[in-house]
Amino acid sequence: MSNYSFDTLKLHAGYNPAEHNHAVSVPIYQTTAFTLDTVKRSDDLFYFDSAEALYTRLSNPTTDVLDARLTALHPGATGAVTLSSGMAAVTYALLNVTAGKGRILATARSYGGSFDSFEQIFGETGVKYDIVENPDDPANFEALVKEDTKVIYIESITNPNATILDIEAIANIAHKHGIPLIVDNTVATPYLLNPFDFGADVVVYSATKGLTGHGNVIAGAVVENGKFNWKNGKFPQFDGQPHFLVSQQGVPRSFYDVFPDTPFTGRIRAIHLNYLGGAIAPFNSYLVLLGIETLSERISKSVKSAEKIVEFLENRPEVAWVNHAHAKNNKYRDLAAKYFPKGAGAILSFGLKKNDRATIIKFLEAVKVFSFQANIGDARSLIINPSTTTHIELPEHAQELADIHTETIRLSIGLEDVNDLIADLEQAFAAI
Ligand SMILES: *Cc1c(COP(=O)(O)O)cnc(C)c1O
Repeated sequence: MSNYSFDTLKLHAGYNPAEHNHAVSVPIYQTTAFTLDTVKRSDDLFYFDSAEALYTRLSNPTTDVLDARLTALHPGATGAVTLSSGMAAVTYALLNVTAGKGRILATARSYGGSFDSFEQIFGETGVKYDIVENPDDPANFEALVKEDTKVIYIESITNPNATILDIEAIANIAHKHGIPLIVDNTVATPYLLNPFDFGADVVVYSATKGLTGHGNVIAGAVVENGKFNWKNGKFPQFDGQPHFLVSQQGVPRSFYDVFPDTPFTGRIRAIHLNYLGGAIAPFNSYLVLLGIETLSERISKSVKSAEKIVEFLENRPEVAWVNHAHAKNNKYRDLAAKYFPKGAGAILSFGLKKNDRATIIKFLEAVKVFSFQANIGDARSLIINPSTTTHIELPEHAQELADIHTETIRLSIGLEDVNDLIADLEQAFAAI
């Protein structure tokens, strides 16, 4: 199907009704295991010589369709593995690239949970991390690449301040040093950006957010394009020949031998999904597939509404600043023109001039259409104060680096009528 455009692929890729009793909607295979039938088939499955489903922790036909659809929505990608949450996707991707050694190079603008995992999970595995204090200049990444740095990890549009990094320049630095670039593309979704077009090697998602877009599921995914050379000496975990990869004929095999086009996601499936077990439920895969059917329509509408709300906020006397690439004088406008011609997402933040805590509480509690909750990318519009909620995990110094302040209010724009959203903010301004 690779000749078709995004909007066709998001409805059809990876699914052939004739292979599923002609069901039009992707069936939910609510089963733990799949019959082995013959010992030959069992051997093929257990020796990784067949990609058919064996046990739902490792794969499932509903989830397989989602993996294939996500792969198709990223031209250049060779494979994907869908997981039980965005955090499973982030941690499995980073566990896979570090394998208990070396350093992660990231920014303080990372999602709070991801940032905290560098210390709380990776610290326990012996992996260290470095934080680029000012990631707006790609040279600052290069300055921190050390002998044992294994990966550069960034987000394509950050949350809550909607900053944009120069992905291509950062990818070039990573590749110059023989390490991959992993991009968390959650806020952008593949509709607004395909990070593989600009040198990313691995893309991770919280599918919980805009990808599914209905605030009804927790899910994640890791997508790869099979281009990075994991055999360059820095990543022995891909070259090794673990006992469980031995062939039916008894020949030792590496991850490259078993998954030649998808060594990265193949290894995540065989190791992290298999042993840590963050498997997505088939019903949740179905919900993500359903959300993706309307991805372009939802994201394009919410981006347009977000831009109108940016213009509205910029003209309010109560507002000190607005962060979104559509804002006048926003310093990411040039990068947005290069990476986000369809718009730079539907997340924005702003600060009130009167920024005492009582005023902020009054504002948050005055809105009626916006929903006060810790999520983004819902069909409903959301509001929150990140400093004491979503980004509370960040130490004060990291909040400072991430440019998150007590007065920062984040909006995630959904699909309501934009005039109702603006009227809702207007009455909240009147309340303070
Ligand atoms: C929400 C989020 C995550 C974590 O995803 P969950 O599905 O909540 O586990 C990771 N990265 C980004 C950018 C997110 O917004």
